[in-house]
Amino acid sequence: MRSMQIINWGEPLELRELETPVPKGAEILVRVEACGVCHSDLHIRSGFFNLGKGNTFSMEERGVFTPFTMGHEPVGTVIATGQSCDEYLVGKSFVIYPWISCEKCEPCLNGFTQVCDTPKIIGTRVHGAYSDYVIVPNKKYLFDYSGIDMNLACTLACSGLTTFSALRKIKPEFLGARDSVLIIGAGGLGLTAICLLKSMSKARIIVSDISEEHRHIAKELGANHCIDPGDDKSSENVQAFAHHASGTGIAATLDLVGLPETMKFGLLALRKGGHHVHIGLFGGAHTISLPPLAFRMLKISGSYVGSLIEFKELIDLVKSGIKLPIPIIERPLMDASAALDDLESGNVTGRIVLKP
Ligand SMILES: [Zn+2]
Ligand SMILES: [Zn+2]
Repeated sequence: MRSMQIINWGEPLELRELETPVPKGAEILVRVEACGVCHSDLHIRSGFFNLGKGNTFSMEERGVFTPFTMGHEPVGTVIATGQSCDEYLVGKSFVIYPWISCEKCEPCLNGFTQVCDTPKIIGTRVHGAYSDYVIVPNKKYLFDYSGIDMNLACTLACSGLTTFSALRKIKPEFLGARDSVLIIGAGGLGLTAICLLKSMSKARIIVSDISEEHRHIAKELGANHCIDPGDDKSSENVQAFAHHASGTGIAATLDLVGLPETMKFGLLALRKGGHHVHIGLFGGAHTISLPPLAFRMLKISGSYVGSLIEFKELIDLVKSGIKLPIPIIERPLMDASAALDDLESGNVTGRIVLKP
């Protein structure tokens, strides 16, 4: 099989011809048909995450070493199954839930697979789908996506699931038309969040992004108001919109960027009792004044991908007909490095999908 691999951290991916794996036991061999490119792949390629104040967390500290194949948003067709897996799956195409866990610890047994301390995630811990074949350990990670476009289906495995799980944390069904939600960052995740939130809540949607093009698309997808955080009056602008026509302010912020500046902006924007959800992995560190956390009764949550149960709910929601018109850019697998470079330079609107 052909895989685009990290050979040296921080350097362009290289094509490697490897032996195609043979599925054993409950395993399944999938021929990859599409794999989304995720912003977190930039951090994985660099070999570390920025913790701020000069501190980093390396992939090797996570137990991941080169050569390594990324790719955690796969769709593909089952080619072969191990001895203890049903053969009827062969020839069928599925979207793969990549956030695979140990299946033995308490969180795993209670369905919170992404909380597991010993994960075996496809594309971030074990070899992923920047390749023409990938191994899936069990059929329960395969999801039928009939009725959903293949390129959109693959992006559900990370960008869709990440935004869905983050939105569930703010209980959007309990927000009314006078409440506002601020979405910080209108890249692939932010645009998905707008579409999902519209189907899950009546709340006003305010989007903050430095790119005029991203703001324009956010508006087209249904954002009620867009602001440029580089504008000196951006904070007043957010509050004016959130309070106009008896508006009750910002009930929740979703930070899909994850910089010290975006966290500061999100926390300051919240009304009393508001909920800030931190999702983006851009990196850094932010100091928080403690008394206002109590006075203003704020809640801060971290949100990382989503559970197997949430993935099923998301697929069902998308199958029910909600529209996710996220711009998708198809590129050949061999362009994986260039695709990552474009993503890093901020020149991508929507989501890139690699085709082997
Ligand atoms: Zn991802
Ligand atoms: Zn576990």
